[in-house]
Amino acid sequence: MTTPPATDRVLLAALLLPGPRGEAVPDAAVVVRDGLIADAGPREQVLARTDPRTPVLDLAGRTLLPGFIDAHAHLVFDASPEPVAALRAADDRSVLLAMAGRARALLDAGVTTVRDLGDRSYLSLALRDAVADGTLAGPRILTAGPPLTITGGHCWFLGGEADGEEEVRRAARARLRAGTDWIKVMATGGTFTPGGPPPWRSQYGLPELTAAAEEAHRFGRRAAAHVHGTAGIEDAVAAGFDTLEHCSFSTGAGVATDRDAARRLADRLAARDTAVCPTLSGGLRDKLPDLGEELVQRVLDQIGLLHRHGVRVIAGTDAGMPGSGFGRFAEGLDWFAEAGLSTAEVLESATTGAAHALGLADRTGRIAPGLDADLLVVDDDPRTSPATLRTPHAVFARGRLHRPHDSVEGSLR
Ligand SMILES: [Zn+2]
Repeated sequence: MTTPPATDRVLLAALLLPGPRGEAVPDAAVVVRDGLIADAGPREQVLARTDPRTPVLDLAGRTLLPGFIDAHAHLVFDASPEPVAALRAADDRSVLLAMAGRARALLDAGVTTVRDLGDRSYLSLALRDAVADGTLAGPRILTAGPPLTITGGHCWFLGGEADGEEEVRRAARARLRAGTDWIKVMATGGTFTPGGPPPWRSQYGLPELTAAAEEAHRFGRRAAAHVHGTAGIEDAVAAGFDTLEHCSFSTGAGVATDRDAARRLADRLAARDTAVCPTLSGGLRDKLPDLGEELVQRVLDQIGLLHRHGVRVIAGTDAGMPGSGFGRFAEGLDWFAEAGLSTAEVLESATTGAAHALGLADRTGRIAPGLDADLLVVDDDPRTSPATLRTPHAVFARGRLHRPHDSVEGSLR
């Protein structure tokens, strides 16, 4: 028998939260081998079946849980008050270098998978590949390339303008040929593009949306729709999109949202297992005085409503947008608790549930043999001390150990 490679480890933890809702194993061990989870469970049992020469890393009184999944981010944006102006002033080379730093910041915050829902010049694909081959430290990156939008529509400056069913179909195929993991479509307007359609107005109709989702599925990939208004949400569901982003049911009448529509559509979303990513970040709390408590409360009520109807709600921060930085993932989870999700459900929204929605259930989101070793080490029990999630002690991304805020791959104190 040969000596186990140095990257193989047995991790000992006071508590293991393996992912599936509510499961907890005290005095646990997890075996990492070749970047995968080889074994996990009660310490004595795992140690009894493990090669005794495998190095042991005792995490002392700490907790192990699956690495987080941020289902909605934009690595090309800098989270400054003017991210569009900053991006348009920068060339692709400098943007790509900045993106590498943002990927590392996500990892420091415990994010081991991020779905980038809109870039420029397919830059997220280059970053994805550099992380995947070990050149750069970062989370696993799912890419969409430049999002599809109408001419002059929401985020047109990212380079994804396409009008009418045929152009949309061709543009979707071009992205899939380039190797994107997802197709992202701006089904309605947004708040972010000066002079563009407002959030409650549809940009595309059912034929264009159906074309985009159909092409993604034809190539064995998935489709995400940015949607705010009710008509856009209805069309995106009918078109077969896998995830709905924001899904705010905004009406354009002040802070009002279309609660009747939310109630009407919730059962359909649940039955089709169409996931909703409401994109709430920790930074939103800083903006409360500007946004108004009433608006935020309506959004939270709506999330609670969808959740109670069995809709899969998944965590995502829209990192890169103003005030939504890349290093504050866990703070965004507090909103789900305020919307009425239990602590176990909140964790599920950022791990197992998100992995399912993103088509990664057989790779990550749980701590189980055969899956990638995407692990988070935190000081306390997050079920009773959720704030412990904000400052991970260590992160494993596909078995590679990262100490948050170390500049190099570190060792555990
Ligand atoms: Zn976004």
